[in-house]
Amino acid sequence: MKKSTLAVHAGQRREASPGVVNQVDPSTAFQYIDHGPQYYPRYFNTPNQQMVVEKLAALENTETGMIFSSGMAAISMTLTGLLERGDHVVFISSLYGGTHHFIHSELEKQGIDFSFAGTGVDELMNACRPETKMVFVESPTNPMMEIVDLAGLAQRARARNLMVVIDSTFASPINQNPANFGIDVIVHSGTKYLGGHSDLSFGAVLSRKPLIDRIHRKSINYGGNVNALTCYLIERSLKTLSIRVERQSSNALKIARALNANPQVTRVFYPGLPESSGHAIAARQMTGFGGMLSFELSAECPATDFLSRLELITPAMSLGGVESTAVLPVFASHRLMPEAEREALGITGQLVRLSVGIEDAEDLIDDLQQAILASCQLLSRAGS
Ligand SMILES: *Cc1c(COP(=O)(O)O)cnc(C)c1O
Repeated sequence: MKKSTLAVHAGQRREASPGVVNQVDPSTAFQYIDHGPQYYPRYFNTPNQQMVVEKLAALENTETGMIFSSGMAAISMTLTGLLERGDHVVFISSLYGGTHHFIHSELEKQGIDFSFAGTGVDELMNACRPETKMVFVESPTNPMMEIVDLAGLAQRARARNLMVVIDSTFASPINQNPANFGIDVIVHSGTKYLGGHSDLSFGAVLSRKPLIDRIHRKSINYGGNVNALTCYLIERSLKTLSIRVERQSSNALKIARALNANPQVTRVFYPGLPESSGHAIAARQMTGFGGMLSFELSAECPATDFLSRLELITPAMSLGGVESTAVLPVFASHRLMPEAEREALGITGQLVRLSVGIEDAEDLIDDLQQAILASCQLLSRAGS
């Protein structure tokens, strides 16, 4: 079945009730039945948790998975569950800020060593050592929307017996299925596209059963499970995932083209643009280019003024919701990064990151154009 069908039907338990929606069972105590499995929320095995996992595993084309109360819980438990003292990990340098913070403040204490490398397969593989156990990437990356060659990386890593983990949050399972290219473990911040309405916090990890079992054994000690009512809302969100993401992706492409044609925009970073550096690989491994894009305003149009001039698009952190939002990475995700490091990644004060929603594309483009015009005029008026 295709993903739009799976998003609606996978994990549906018709045998339990004639209703077309799964029943919510908020129980934390479950009667013993014939010495069968013992259900308990923190064992991550209650019916509602399992239904969500079934749907997500179907969408990502993996054997199984787990859901957690946040994306960071999924990421931290994946790292903690799959690595041991003495192991080494190679992380892509353009890493989500929370993951960056976790590895510096927690992984180090667990005796796990790590290095950073660029997005190229050669760069990532050259950073590997004899004790390297894992390569951890994101694609597309935040906020420059760079693309990692997933098939190439998986092939090279397999030859060295390394696990490859991807944080696939920006792509969502609709636009990219890393398991199809041989990537071992896929993590998502469900708070973003999977939830999709800026009102749910959760995370997911999808993989083969032996790897999930290792993460599961650790997670039972740490917790971070999701309650049944949230599972119900996640399921509700996932049923519309494909139509939301398809609309967000087509809107983003239209916006990227419009911004590209605006003389006050110096650069647009979107893998859907043929001239973008990651386009050829993205076209091979993604079915849509996603709802995230960044662009750089010319120096005559202060980005902070631009942000304050937006009328429809909300200046807000986070991403993936049905409503469009915008941030300046230097004041948000990359606030704590030293300026030199930031500039090396191309993240200037004039860089704007957009999370494109499901509104009408023309309305969004109109809002962006008027805010650009207004922010540039501000300066010309002040100067005259
Ligand atoms: C938001 C985000 C996370 C963390 O997810 P939380 O739900 O906030 O814990 C991880 N990775 C990426 C790429 C994200 O955007």
